[in-house]
Amino acid sequence: MEQLRFDGRVAVVTGAGGGLGKAYALLLGSRGAKVVVNDLGSARDGIGKSNFADEVVKEIKAKGGEAVADYNSVVEGEKIIKTALDNYGRIDILINNAGILRDRSFQKMSEQDWDLVHAVHLKGAYKTTQAAWDAFKKQKFGRVVMTSSNAGLIGNFGQANYSAAKMGLVGLASTLAIEGAKYNIKVNTIVPTAASRLTEDILPPDMFQAMKPELIAPVVAYMVHESFEDNGVIIDSTLGFAHKAHLVRSQGVPLRNKPADPVTIESVREKWAEVVNMNGARRIDKITEVTMDLVQSLQDFEDRSKMDSVN
Ligand code: NAD
Repeated sequence: MEQLRFDGRVAVVTGAGGGLGKAYALLLGSRGAKVVVNDLGSARDGIGKSNFADEVVKEIKAKGGEAVADYNSVVEGEKIIKTALDNYGRIDILINNAGILRDRSFQKMSEQDWDLVHAVHLKGAYKTTQAAWDAFKKQKFGRVVMTSSNAGLIGNFGQANYSAAKMGLVGLASTLAIEGAKYNIKVNTIVPTAASRLTEDILPPDMFQAMKPELIAPVVAYMVHESFEDNGVIIDSTLGFAHKAHLVRSQGVPLRNKPADPVTIESVREKWAEVVNMNGARRIDKITEVTMDLVQSLQDFEDRSKMDSVN
């Protein structure tokens, strides 16, 4: 099988001093990419700083690769992209991976817990991606991966701040995929589950051993390769499996019998089982489909009402 390589490409991986980001950086570095190994080196809750990134750079270089460390916070993403441009003159790939946790049940969650988690995950991805955007547009090439979580897609007790930020990243990726499409900028989302310091006290020990970040790294590396064609997809991966996830919408139903009828709370209740019936549910790929769908539904509804009044 032809080996997929990244020669000539410059990749920034945020939060790459450990866990998943380290696995991404090592893999890209081993396949020819020049890697900016960004990591602020904070504790799991976002407090403190250290030079985790140095070890990863050393490892990449020891295997014959090229890498440079960057210790900036993702909230100053422009500095991280500057490291790429100053050292290697370009930026092709950005994996927004840095993350922290400040789990608390919702009532006990402080504003600081909320703000810090949003700053690192959502604002960090916004700042870093925006700083690279101009270069991506000019060179008509860019590959971006956002990192979401099942806690965002599904919800998880004690993670209101994290869930909201992680679902925010899906929205960010969806819009950037649309804005970047004509410039060959692909923006996709990974939903990983892996052994790391974020999950060491959450996953059962035998699962923890098995859930190696190295099983997810090839999925993410493929998603940032120049041959990758999908744009705006969400890929859930763990333990050597990968799935695509997306939102679907039910077929829906008119909430009144005739156009002249009012919509009442009672008519909504009467139709509710049909509103939430997911048989025939489908994904909406473009926002214009929502409007077209609506126009079609209105037309069908009016035609049906006219037929009913003739009969
Ligand atoms: P990790 O703690 O090993 O890695 C996160 C890294 O981000 C750390 O090295 C940390 O120092 C760095 N970091 C924190 N704040 C930063 C900042 N402001 N700027 C730059 N770097 C910063 O955890 P991980 O499990 O490898 O997590 C990686 C990503 O995957 C995170 O976004 C996390 O939310 C997400 N994720 C992980 C799992 C999982 O099962 N491990 C599940 C869902 C999502």
